[in-house]
Amino acid sequence: MTKVVLCGALGRMGKAILRLSLEYSDFEVIAGVEHPDCIRVADLGEASGIQELKGKPLTSRLEEVISQCHVVIEFSGNPSAAVSHTKIASLSGKGIVIGTTGFSEEEVQEVKAHSQNIPILLSPNMSLGVNLLFKLVELSAKALKDKNFDVEISEIHHRFKKDAPSGTALKLASIVASAFNTTLKDSAVFGREGVHQRSTQEIGVIALRGGDVVGDHTVYFLGFGERIELTHRATSRDTFAKGAIEASRWIMGKPPGFYSMFDVLGL
Ligand code: NAP
Repeated sequence: MTKVVLCGALGRMGKAILRLSLEYSDFEVIAGVEHPDCIRVADLGEASGIQELKGKPLTSRLEEVISQCHVVIEFSGNPSAAVSHTKIASLSGKGIVIGTTGFSEEEVQEVKAHSQNIPILLSPNMSLGVNLLFKLVELSAKALKDKNFDVEISEIHHRFKKDAPSGTALKLASIVASAFNTTLKDSAVFGREGVHQRSTQEIGVIALRGGDVVGDHTVYFLGFGERIELTHRATSRDTFAKGAIEASRWIMGKPPGFYSMFDVLGL
């Protein structure tokens, strides 16, 4: 049995995980953590509207509920909260699965430092399809390096998404950058305006926002006389929620380290 505390329990991803958790006999959300402004009742079942979870605590303080769990799942959507939840997990010796996106490079390093003490899995996208896309993009970028192809990345998400571009688009761009022996800092161009002639080293990244789009990502390899477009479209949040549940089951009992969904999916 994997017992987890879920941070961001009343958010879109949090609720998807709560709902899906009922389908597993060996996975249980034992408590929820939320932003204090979101907590009207301290009962997870009442707050989420999921009767089966009645009697489980909902709190704004992870340290109050962490001792009874095996793993923390983090979907608060707030990078600085995610860093402090990682610190608390590290002090308590519990593994953590982080799905929150929008970290700065410094915050990623801060999170990573705790992987000396506990297993940490950080993934901007927990779907099998997107992780396969990461592999396909790496393969394509390596094959097309120095072959006069330009790379552009586009992503679309629902109107409520806070960070842009998505963590997944950034990860795709960093995969291309490293295949091209450069860095994101030196090559990424986030949107264009005015007079701007594309340089050959650029990796263009553009974010569209609107409606209820769960998450679309396309990587274009644009050549002369031909182009390749690799696209993933998520149509349900359950894909990510299932990935997070699988990741938390996988990480339980693993030695300290910094893991990704590639480890869970065996890619
Ligand atoms: P969301 O609906 O905004 O949910 C986040 C929830 O966490 C909200 O209820 C928010 O409360 C709460 N929260 C904020 N600060 C908190 C804190 N300090 N402690 C505990 N809870 C806190 O967002 P979402 O759509 O569920 O997405 C959450 C994150 O996951 C985002 O970063 C998103 O990009 C990412 N995501 C990742 C994947 C993946 O596969 N890795 C997939 C989808 C989404 P307030 O509303 O009061 O701020």
